[in-house]
Amino acid sequence: MLKNIPFVDLKLQHQPLKTELKKAVQAVLEKGDFILGQAVEEFESSFAKACGVEHAIGVGCGTDAIELGLQACGVGVGDEVILPANTFIATLIGVIHVGATPVLVDCHPETALIDLEAAQKAVTKKTKAILPVHLYGQMVAPSELKDFAQTNNLIIFEDAAQAHLARREGYRAGSIGIAAAFSFYPSKNLGCFGDGGIVITNNSEVANKMRTLRNYGSPKKYEHVEAGTNSRLDTIQAAILNVKLPYLEDWNRDRNQAAQKYDTLLSPMKEKGIIPIQNFSDSGHIYHLYVIRVTDKAPINQDTLKEKLTSAGISVGIHYPIPCHLQPAYQNLGYKQGDFPNSEILSQQILSLPMYPVISEDQINQVAEVITQIINK
Ligand SMILES: *Cc1c(COP(=O)(O)O)cnc(C)c1O
Repeated sequence: MLKNIPFVDLKLQHQPLKTELKKAVQAVLEKGDFILGQAVEEFESSFAKACGVEHAIGVGCGTDAIELGLQACGVGVGDEVILPANTFIATLIGVIHVGATPVLVDCHPETALIDLEAAQKAVTKKTKAILPVHLYGQMVAPSELKDFAQTNNLIIFEDAAQAHLARREGYRAGSIGIAAAFSFYPSKNLGCFGDGGIVITNNSEVANKMRTLRNYGSPKKYEHVEAGTNSRLDTIQAAILNVKLPYLEDWNRDRNQAAQKYDTLLSPMKEKGIIPIQNFSDSGHIYHLYVIRVTDKAPINQDTLKEKLTSAGISVGIHYPIPCHLQPAYQNLGYKQGDFPNSEILSQQILSLPMYPVISEDQINQVAEVITQIINK
């Protein structure tokens, strides 16, 4: 009997770290510095260093990192922010919560990354920022982003929630623009044991403002100089992240190798219309997700392949089945079906295969074999 293959396997990944993790949590219990404690400072400093930037400011989750990060960069009411239509909804939520006007644009059909030509057409006098999403772990090309931002006099704020330590053209994710947001949701490439997020920046003004904003807008107890909120990375979560961060490069490398195996094993399926999302960043892609497209040329559609894989015990996902502009909650933005055809087609074609650092060669073989059998039948 073949064993079921999970979509991610955090339990197995954490197994070798159990003693270290327990010790780290125990240390926080003993010290009792639960809010903005020592482990938070330590993690902020190591994460900033790992990303090659000056400052990191831990917050409650990735969504808050986008909202507060934009606020710290001076984005707010009356400003337009350009972002892709095919992203996790949190990117859009961050923009809306800061009071800015989201302007959605389409993506490239092969990479699923934001289409900067479409973005160019969306620029107006009110555009203040572009919010690229390094989707699935692949960065939007830094050189093209920088050219775009410079030409249009915009700031770049990166959503790097799926791209911890990804690289492209010599840049680390989060170091291209003025600031960037990360999430430590448990299943991200670097995840904690609950919710967590961080903003990174080289700009000390943005960093100082962030520290104030996340802490009731208060640089000094009971003195509130900014309209802030309460959103801090918990000390206990930071302690867990301190244990995990040193392993991140290895985990990313393992994901990249798993992806290369999938690529090789699935390459004969290309002529049958099963095509992986294109990888332009080579070894810098950190494969938060490994995504294939079930194109029109394939003998079956996305739904059927998903169903068949699921009944074969292989867990798969769709990231994401409904683009932001078609989500019921955001109909007030005035978009409609047909506005972003590439994003809409992708949402009907994509399938994310099991992907995690400790996935075995046998498991990858099994997934590829089952797909091959289904498609060839
Ligand atoms: C996970 C994620 C977020 C939000 O993170 P939370 O920590 O869940 O709030 C934002 N953007 C993208 C692209 C994500 O994948």
